[in-house]
Amino acid sequence: MYQRDDLAYGYGAATAVLTLDAALPTTILIRFQRWRDRLGERATDLELVTDLGARIGSVEWLRGLATCAALCTGAWLLAPGFRPIAAAPQPGFTESHWDEARAIGIAPLAYGGDTGRRMGATDAVLPLGETPERPSVDLTATLGRGDGFTRVLERAGVAGVEAKQVAAMVAGAISVDEIKPGTRMNVVLGRRANRNEARPLDHLAFRARLDLKLAVERVDGRLRLQKVPIAVDDTPLRVQGIVGSSLYRSARTAGAPAAAVTDYLHALATKLNVGSDVASTDRFDIIIAHRRAETGEVEMGDLLFAGLTHGTRRTQLLRWAKDGRSQWFEASGVGESRGAMRMPVNGHLTSGFGMRMHPLLGYSRFHKGVDFGAAYGSPIVAATDGVVAFAGWHGGHGNYVKLNHSSGLATGYGHMSRIAVRPGVRVRQGQVIGYVGSTGLSTGPHLHYELYKNGQAINPNSVKFTMAPLLAGRELARFRGELTRLLAVRPGAALSPAPVMASAETLKKKG
Ligand SMILES: [Zn+2]
Repeated sequence: MYQRDDLAYGYGAATAVLTLDAALPTTILIRFQRWRDRLGERATDLELVTDLGARIGSVEWLRGLATCAALCTGAWLLAPGFRPIAAAPQPGFTESHWDEARAIGIAPLAYGGDTGRRMGATDAVLPLGETPERPSVDLTATLGRGDGFTRVLERAGVAGVEAKQVAAMVAGAISVDEIKPGTRMNVVLGRRANRNEARPLDHLAFRARLDLKLAVERVDGRLRLQKVPIAVDDTPLRVQGIVGSSLYRSARTAGAPAAAVTDYLHALATKLNVGSDVASTDRFDIIIAHRRAETGEVEMGDLLFAGLTHGTRRTQLLRWAKDGRSQWFEASGVGESRGAMRMPVNGHLTSGFGMRMHPLLGYSRFHKGVDFGAAYGSPIVAATDGVVAFAGWHGGHGNYVKLNHSSGLATGYGHMSRIAVRPGVRVRQGQVIGYVGSTGLSTGPHLHYELYKNGQAINPNSVKFTMAPLLAGRELARFRGELTRLLAVRPGAALSPAPVMASAETLKKKG
C-alpha cells in the first residue's frame, strides 16, 4: 500500500510542476508522466515483502526465500566479530618500590615495620611501666528504657557504693522512677590513687524533670545535692480552625501534633460520624496539655478537649477520669458519656445490616452485622468494656470473638486472621482482641461486626446508647471548673513569647 501512496504523491508533485512551471516543454512532461504511469503499474504488481507462510513453492515465495537468505547472509558477513584488544603490559615493582609500598601498607606496621623505612622496636626500646592517666574524665551517660539509675552510674565508671549513695540523695528530691528514659547525665570523674580502684564522682548533672535540674557536686570531699528549679509554663495548647477539605490536614496545618489529631478524631467518633456529620465550613477546637520550660524544652501531653462547631450545633467533649479510666464526656450533656461504642477497626463500611445477596453463597440472605473493609492484619479492638464469651473457630464466621457487655449487650467480630484474647478474659474498650483476616465464608480481608441486644442481632449503626457513668455533685462541679478553665485559654497562648513570668508565679503557689 505504501508504494501506491508514494506514487500518488509523485503524481501530485508532477502536476504541481506542470501548473507552476509553464516554461518546460509540454511533450517532455507528458512522456515523463507516461513513464511514471508504467512504473506505477509495475510497482503495484511487485510485492517486495513476501509472506513466507503463504503460497509456499510459488515463484514469489522462492524469490522471497532467496531475498531472506541473501539478507541473512549479508548480515552474517557484515558482523564485526570479537577480537581481543592489545594493552600495554603491567610494569613490575622494583625492589625499592616494593619496600616503600610495604612500609606504608597495613601489614608491615602491624609487624613493627620491618622494611627498613620504618624502624622496628629493638632491645634499646624500653616499654613504659605505666601510661600517665588523665586527671579527670568527662562523659555523658544516658538512662535507657528499663534501666536503673545506679546501673547508669556504674556503667559510667562510678564505684557501686558511691552510685548507691548518689541514688539515695537523688531519691530525696525526686522519685528515681520518675526520671524519663533517654535522660542524659553529665558525669565528671576525678583523680584516683591507683588503677585498681574506681574514679570518684566529682560532678553529676541532669534534668530530672521538665521543671527540675539536679546536680551532685563534690565539695571538700563530700557529695552535695543541688536542686535547680526551672520555671515551666503549663498553659494548654489550643488550636482552632476551619475544617476545609480535610479535618486531619487542617488541624495539622494549624499546629496540632499528629497523635493529638488522631485522638481528636477518635474522640469525635464517639459522638458523631466523622465521615458524614462534619462539613468543610465547621470549626474545630482542640486543646492539648502543653508544658514549656523557660529553657525552651516543650512537652506535649494528652488531648484534653475536643470541640466541633457545626452551624448552631456544638460538640464539646472533655477528657475526664472516672473510676480510674479516662473517657470522653459531653460538656453540654452534664457529663454524660454517650455513644460509648467505639469503631472496632480502622476501616470503612463496605456492607450494611439487612437483606443482601451473599457474595459467596449467591442467594439473598440476612446480613446480621456490618462489614468494615480494612487491611489484612489491622488490629481489631473491643467496642466497649466486656468479657470474652467466645474466642475460636465459629463456622462461616471463621476465627470469631464474642464479647458480653453490660445491659444485655454483646458484640461479635468475625473473619479474624488471628485471635488475641482467650474466653473468660475481661477486656477494656479499645483493647486489641484480634487482627483482620479472611477466615471462614469471606471474599477478602474485612471485619464482620455484630451487635446483640438480649441475644437478638440489631443494627450496630442504629444504636446510640448511654454507658452512663454520669457525673454528679462535687465531681460535676470539678468537671465544670476544668471545662471553664480550658475554654478560657486563648488560642496560641501557649506559644506566646513571654509565658515564664506567669508560670513562675504558679510555681511559687505550688511550692
Ligand atoms: Zn459480614
